[in-house]
Amino acid sequence: MRVLVLGAGLLGVTSAYYLQQLGHEVTVIDRHATPAAKARGLAASGLSPDAARLLQQSAAARPAQTGWKALRHRLRRRLGGWLDLAFGTSSRFHPLEHLVRLGAYSRASARALRDEVGVSGGARNAGVLSFYTDADAFEGRLARQPRWDALGCEERLLSAEDALALEPALRGAREALAGAAHALDDPSRDPAQFAAGLVFLCRAAGVRFLSRHQVLSLHERAGRIDHVRALDAHGRPVKLQAQAYVLALGASSVAHAEQLGIAMPLRFVREHILTLPIKDPARAPRMALRDWQGRLRIRRVETPAGDFLRVSTTVHAKPRATSEPDPDCFEAMLRRIETMLPGAVDTSRAGFETTLHAVSKSGLPIIGKTRLRNLFLNTAPGARGWINACGAGKSIARIVSGLRPELEFAFRGS
Ligand SMILES: Cc1cc2nc3c(=O)[nH]c(=O)nc-3n(C[C@H](O)[C@H](O)[C@H](O)COP(=O)(O)OP(=O)(O)OC[C@H]3O[C@@H](n4cnc5c(N)ncnc54)[C@H](O)[C@@H]3O)c2cc1C
Repeated sequence: MRVLVLGAGLLGVTSAYYLQQLGHEVTVIDRHATPAAKARGLAASGLSPDAARLLQQSAAARPAQTGWKALRHRLRRRLGGWLDLAFGTSSRFHPLEHLVRLGAYSRASARALRDEVGVSGGARNAGVLSFYTDADAFEGRLARQPRWDALGCEERLLSAEDALALEPALRGAREALAGAAHALDDPSRDPAQFAAGLVFLCRAAGVRFLSRHQVLSLHERAGRIDHVRALDAHGRPVKLQAQAYVLALGASSVAHAEQLGIAMPLRFVREHILTLPIKDPARAPRMALRDWQGRLRIRRVETPAGDFLRVSTTVHAKPRATSEPDPDCFEAMLRRIETMLPGAVDTSRAGFETTLHAVSKSGLPIIGKTRLRNLFLNTAPGARGWINACGAGKSIARIVSGLRPELEFAFRGS
């Protein structure tokens, strides 16, 4: 079957790889010059300005439309949305459990890729240490662990002493530390390397990439997508046709889906990011850290210009959210880092950045069928997108092929 994958982000590229493996003839279209540019650090992360604008319009901030054409469009969208939701998802798991399952399946798929064809997730792999400074929260985690183990979670729970032995940089938190969970495999350690390997494999397998092509619109006919209109690398209009289409345009997927009356409930989150030069390497963490109570993700990044810590936190944002920095939030992040990792970084040279992301309202990636028989979705992966990309890509490839996914998950239209 000829399949057109819209978007060459990490999800588009993994979808394309697994589709090609199932025998399809796959083309991927993207406006960027390089596939998986964001994951490879070649494009800004967060929402592009036009994606943010489209999302804002598609949420509560949608401007009032008038006239018969606008009314017809709104009715079509609403009806389509109901149909699509009715078509929706059935589930017997809690959303968090779905994420645990998808994460486990993705890890297994990424390892299989690594073993079979040598795609690496990065050479250094000290893992991720999620630590708790609230005893009740850690107790809750202990109680959930048997259930998560059964679902394929590979995290090992540690006492405060064992966590400190594993990551001595946390000694500043010694008094407060209640316990931790350690996951050895961290594919997010080097998403750039992983993405580059996948793109190489796709090309070698015959996937065709149409770079610098801008998707303009998807056109429906008799319950199917008939064609896609786009601008090619020279700005000339082109019409692209395939037998199946996978929508993986990141946040830009929303506007296109909504135009077709396909419900895609998303919300904004703001990610505040601190970059802090490392002052004392012995005091800086060697593994990625997740601070549950401080709501921080902490990662050591090595660059030719020196090592630094990337510290980020995510907060809910309103539909009209902007990516303006929030000084109070940055202050609180700095204080927490100074308490938890004293002397490790030079806070006087901190860099601040805020980006907007769109995530699904359910917190789960949107993967699966739509009411249009040949249109499939693979989008809204959330902050764990890198980790879950292989599982999402492999599953959508099976769904497009009419095969049962290997994973039990809240797939759309299942
Ligand atoms: C809190 C949080 C933090 C995150 N941090 C990061 C981060 O640091 N780095 C990062 O890479 N991701 C980050 N993400 C996003 C996430 O991890 C993604 O999972 C990952 O980048 C892959 O997403 P994707 O393939 O769905 O979308 P994307 O990577 O956004 O890919 C979508 C592709 O579609 C293309 N596209 C969009 N519109 C059009 C159009 N009209 N025509 C042609 N092409 C088009 C884009 O060029 C892009 O290549 C974060 C998410 C959250 C919620």
